[in-house]
Amino acid sequence: MKKYKYSILVSNILDPLTHDTNDLKAVYDRLSSIKEYKSIETRLIRDEDLIDFYNLALGDRQTTYWITGELQRENLNLSSIDNEQRKKAVSKVLNMLKIAKKTHCHYIGIASGKIEKDVSEGLKAFVHSMNEILSEMKMNYNDMKVIVEPLDQFAHKKNVVGTTKTTLQFLEEVDQIHIQEGRLRICWDSAHVALNRDEFEESIKQLAPYIERVHLSNAVLDPNSNLYGDHHLSFCEEGFLNKESAKKIIEIMDKYLDDNITVALEIRVKHRDEAWDMESQARQFLNEVIQ
Ligand SMILES: [Zn+2]
Repeated sequence: MKKYKYSILVSNILDPLTHDTNDLKAVYDRLSSIKEYKSIETRLIRDEDLIDFYNLALGDRQTTYWITGELQRENLNLSSIDNEQRKKAVSKVLNMLKIAKKTHCHYIGIASGKIEKDVSEGLKAFVHSMNEILSEMKMNYNDMKVIVEPLDQFAHKKNVVGTTKTTLQFLEEVDQIHIQEGRLRICWDSAHVALNRDEFEESIKQLAPYIERVHLSNAVLDPNSNLYGDHHLSFCEEGFLNKESAKKIIEIMDKYLDDNITVALEIRVKHRDEAWDMESQARQFLNEVIQ
């Protein structure tokens, strides 16, 4: 098996400890001593106090800021078919790039946004938005990349990108210079792929040239269950993700991807006293399925 780099989704697995500056300082301090993590994925760090602290504690790790939640909370959609709304979303992202640069950010993580009318109109708008963002990055933030995470297209979050087919369409339509120069990459998330009813092997095979990150994420796939959808579950009997299914994903990855990929377990913890316990279980899980 290949040696993939471990990543941690701080704002999922340690979520209860990410809402207060002092809590976050303690989080980064502790994470700095866990050498296995080569990559940190979290929300954009805006707090000036945290910027210095983060750079000191974790400056040598690969940093990804997922900005999807922040856009959503402000009702901004990069796939909006209303051009004024779409432009607002783009300028918000350009503003976030400035802040991200302060902590040596390597990746800005983006999801396409909800389908407003139909997928093809939304896709055109998203391609337009991404071309604008990526050109700005080429000019002024050449050390940063964008990582796009396709979400579910019809089950729950109903995003434009989407199924493996829509993702490939997006990658074909966006300005190719950004793909050639490695500025645009894909995060493959098992829950979204499963909810889109795409076959894992076919999906990884087709997206292999673009995948840079893998999220092992659980979901309930029975549409009659009230847990059906993208709920960032922990391990549970009703969900499809367990050591066995995760090992199968890793086997497929071994076949098609190189070992530069970073892998994170995506589970959400609700109570603060469970967070570090879950973090160590998650690391144990990665150790068992990857090695
Ligand atoms: Zn994910």
